[in-house]
Amino acid sequence: MRGSQVWYNGRIIAAENAKISLFTHGLHYGFGAFEGIRAYKLKRGGGAIFRLEDHLERLYDSARILDLKIPYSIDELIRATLAICKENKFEECYLRHIIFTADGPLGLNHGDNPPVDIAILAWEWGSYLGDKNVKEGARLKISSFCRPHVNSIMTKGKITGQYVVSCLAKREAISQGFDEALLLDHEGYLAEGSGENIFMVRDGIVKTTPLTSILGGITRRTVIAYLKQQGMELVETRFTRDELWCADEIFLTGTAAEITPVREIDYRVIGRGQYAGKPGPLTTQIQKDYRAITRGELKLPGGKAWLTPVK
Ligand code: PMP
Repeated sequence: MRGSQVWYNGRIIAAENAKISLFTHGLHYGFGAFEGIRAYKLKRGGGAIFRLEDHLERLYDSARILDLKIPYSIDELIRATLAICKENKFEECYLRHIIFTADGPLGLNHGDNPPVDIAILAWEWGSYLGDKNVKEGARLKISSFCRPHVNSIMTKGKITGQYVVSCLAKREAISQGFDEALLLDHEGYLAEGSGENIFMVRDGIVKTTPLTSILGGITRRTVIAYLKQQGMELVETRFTRDELWCADEIFLTGTAAEITPVREIDYRVIGRGQYAGKPGPLTTQIQKDYRAITRGELKLPGGKAWLTPVK
């Protein structure tokens, strides 16, 4: 269910009254940035937003990459985010922050300090890749679309226009009967899913793709901190699709997808022995513990400020 109230340029208004002009520069050229954040219900009651400040920091980074100025401080955006949860009476929801070049000159040169619109929306969103896939594992396909070169997209930013490639890859995967697309980088090494980072496990060693061509996921960071605390070996390195096919376990990470196991890639069953085509033991453990971390039931070093209570 969508929240009926949105925060739009500093004010909370009914979503149906939040309109944008057809002369919106960001609509024409995809010039904007966004964030996706989750709030979770807590056992002790109430809700809390997971890693809100980290997500907002990434939004500021994205804006810097685009050379756009966010006309609000981080504290103002924190307060606005909490207000949106409260106004919509959401304790558990998905939050979307978006900033884009607003109604102004429609040439490609939008000039210095162009007008921007900024909004926060909220909706209730279950498992992004489906409850069944979260339990049993998703089926993936290496996409015919590539994650673009680091000088074609700005990988440190979550930039709206960049998602055209993700949408095309996702549509292609779904239309071929898969749940999600995996994109290779321009040199043919694994990059990430259309909206998730990827981890693989082989002989007890966990690997994830390096922060070159991928979006630096906050969930990826959480999983890395968790593995470190568990004393597990993690290698950030490039790997190929055939290495992935031979993995013992594979899982995707993302705010929307959370921890989603992968049971098949390119019609090849992932895993060996009793875990062939099933979520592996480490994936299941991380899934369970990620759930606890996001609800404040399990704390990691440095994870103190990860939960912002929705009051
Ligand atoms: N890669 C891409 C392309 C994404 O869109 C996302 C979702 N934001 C991720 C990775 C995962 O990032 P996060 O864990 O911060 O949600």
